[in-house]
Amino acid sequence: MALGERDFDVIVVGAGCSGSVAAYTAAKLGKSVLVVERGESAGAKNMTGGRIYAHSLRDLFQEYEGDEFNLDEDNPFERKIIHERVTLLDRASAFTVDYSSDRLGEAGSDSFAVLATKLDQWLCDKAEAEGAELIFGIPVDELLKDESGSIIGIRAGEDEITSHVVIVSEGQNSLLTERYLGQKRPLVNEMAVGIKQVFSLPAEEIESRFLCHPGEGAAQLWVGDCTHGNVGGGFMYTNENTISIGLVATIKELSESDTTIYQCMEDFKKHPAVAPIIEGAKLVEHSGHMVSEGGANAVPQIVFDGALVTGDAAMLCLNLGYQVRGMDLAISSGRFAAEAACRAIDARDVSAAGLQGYRKALENSYVLKDMNTFKKWPQTMEHWYSLFTDYPKMVGEIFDSMFVVNGIPAQPLMKRIAPIVKKRGLFKLFGEVRKAVSVL
Ligand SMILES: Cc1cc2nc3c(=O)[nH]c(=O)nc-3n(C[C@H](O)[C@H](O)[C@H](O)COP(=O)(O)OP(=O)(O)OC[C@H]3O[C@@H](n4cnc5c(N)ncnc54)[C@H](O)[C@@H]3O)c2cc1C
Repeated sequence: MALGERDFDVIVVGAGCSGSVAAYTAAKLGKSVLVVERGESAGAKNMTGGRIYAHSLRDLFQEYEGDEFNLDEDNPFERKIIHERVTLLDRASAFTVDYSSDRLGEAGSDSFAVLATKLDQWLCDKAEAEGAELIFGIPVDELLKDESGSIIGIRAGEDEITSHVVIVSEGQNSLLTERYLGQKRPLVNEMAVGIKQVFSLPAEEIESRFLCHPGEGAAQLWVGDCTHGNVGGGFMYTNENTISIGLVATIKELSESDTTIYQCMEDFKKHPAVAPIIEGAKLVEHSGHMVSEGGANAVPQIVFDGALVTGDAAMLCLNLGYQVRGMDLAISSGRFAAEAACRAIDARDVSAAGLQGYRKALENSYVLKDMNTFKKWPQTMEHWYSLFTDYPKMVGEIFDSMFVVNGIPAQPLMKRIAPIVKKRGLFKLFGEVRKAVSVL
């Protein structure tokens, strides 16, 4: 099949982690690549929690750079996460599980605190070093189609630029896929709003507040009072000289609630379990962003004649409460999309059928396998209100009953705890937890 004349082999929309990896991969495979990013620089408009699970980057660079490349030396990481903390937060109490293990730090299963501006720029530099051309500060307004409806390029402002394949990596709330690829708008319960603030503190202070060695850090996820009991949660990540702290709550919940995410954040920072962590720290950044939360059921069509959709634009994001993952999925999907695009161009068939290798690669990898494994979780979490209200309260009452000593003659432990659990109903509690664990 003949491929028409085009300005580029591949155009990538968006220089987030997914787009930059797609551009890097396609350029590495010898294709001419153009990246168009609406921000003034890579990552300028992006936000993440964030912690990246490094396996996706290790696999990518192992494949394309070989043993020469050492992610432990050349990287945009802030701190290696070796402490995992999960906190159930009630108005006046906090119950934290703190886990650390050598496994968490092993190459391949390691994860790192990152800032999107730095990570995205680093990835974008890698794409540029391989020969990808970059245009910043201009949004792509339209996906161009030929008379058969196949995508053949983009319009950005006055410029029409053509390519054999367009990779749409424009992040969540993707207007291009909605307007030109017929995707439905995500539902309000499939999207969440995130708010994040970054506080600067000297590195030694961070290490002493989080009990970490230099270069190491902690990830802490919070549930309960941080979102005023709404479905969602809080996060905290230690960077080199800053702490990222934020909240995520579903748009559906917030729109029905009498609070705002901003108010939740203000109250969260004042909570006795949080305030000492950021005491004396200087606020250096404030941002807001949407997050895809719909899981596998929300993943739309991602392969079209002449176009592929990756990362958040493809709703590839997993929030399991104890794990938040979007960047590793975005990176792998960007890579698989570029590989499939290059194969299709070489085979001179960039129709949806010719590009199906992308979907297959996602299905055969952890990306869609993990999304499918946890596909029932978003709906379960959405209706598990007690997780965000009753459980933190109940756990607080149980631990108060264990640790408060006030001169009033004490009852045996069982007698103290049983009435608290009974209030919730032992069987109900067991049933709820069993249901949740079965889909996690
Ligand atoms: C609050 C919050 C916390 C999170 N925490 C974590 C975490 O801890 N770990 C994790 O792995 N993931 C986390 N995620 C998810 C993760 O950040 C995303 O999954 C990931 O950034 C997606 O990358 P992407 O490249 O697909 O999209 P993005 O990073 O959103 O990049 C999209 C790019 O496209 C550009 N763009 C958009 N439209 C256009 C256009 N029309 N023309 C040109 N350019 C355009 C944007 O400016 C942007 O640069 C979090 C997300 C949020 C919001």
